[in-house]
Amino acid sequence: MLPEIGHDGQERLLRSKALIIGSGGLGCAQAQLLVRAGLGSLVLVDSDVVEIENVHRQVLFDEEDAKLRRPKAEAAASKLRRVNSEVGIEPMVMKVTADNILELIEGIDVVLDATDNIETRYVINDACVLRNTPWVYGGISGTQGLVMPVLPQSGPCLRCLFPEPPPSSALPTVDVAGVVNTGPPLIGSLQVTAAFRILIGSPADPHLLSIDPWRSSFRRIEVSREPSCRCCAQRSFEFLPVD
Ligand SMILES: [Zn+2]
Repeated sequence: MLPEIGHDGQERLLRSKALIIGSGGLGCAQAQLLVRAGLGSLVLVDSDVVEIENVHRQVLFDEEDAKLRRPKAEAAASKLRRVNSEVGIEPMVMKVTADNILELIEGIDVVLDATDNIETRYVINDACVLRNTPWVYGGISGTQGLVMPVLPQSGPCLRCLFPEPPPSSALPTVDVAGVVNTGPPLIGSLQVTAAFRILIGSPADPHLLSIDPWRSSFRRIEVSREPSCRCCAQRSFEFLPVD
């Protein structure tokens, strides 16, 4: 009924396949919204098992998953199948690396970033720009989050904004800095909204969202392609293996 999606948009969602990289706080929120919306198929990739410390923000898991140390991708898939049995859900218990990323994004219409480290995002960016696959960057630590849809060819890529990965010490992870549990579902929800627009063929103009739910701060920053970007302009894919 929603005119922004409409019948045609819903049909397009049904024919779409998404890949979520990471089944933590962001990935759980993204997966359940995509599955409830009637996506065609979904691939979930994560190498970790559920731990009790995850349950406060990873909304697909419970105490029993933590007790049994279930692999996150599999625990998420079994919950999601109960939500909507018509969605094809493929859990993969593995680490996403530069060596397997191109195979993982084969046949994927949109990639959602739900990783917990900056290095993997540069690998995703290289692979998606190389193969012209849209992806939605998202991250949160503490109370601050960022979201940016990346449309290779028409918009800026991650390296247009952040040319080099910062040292890992500069970006405290959730394990070190903690995270307010309202943050990952909020960021994940905004990433899924961007993904819907990409999948129905009506993507938003390039932008970066900078969000701090604790301080009620929402900022939209207009962004554009960097003409000298190593990745999308010079097509130098430094985070992928040289073949
Ligand atoms: Zn770029």
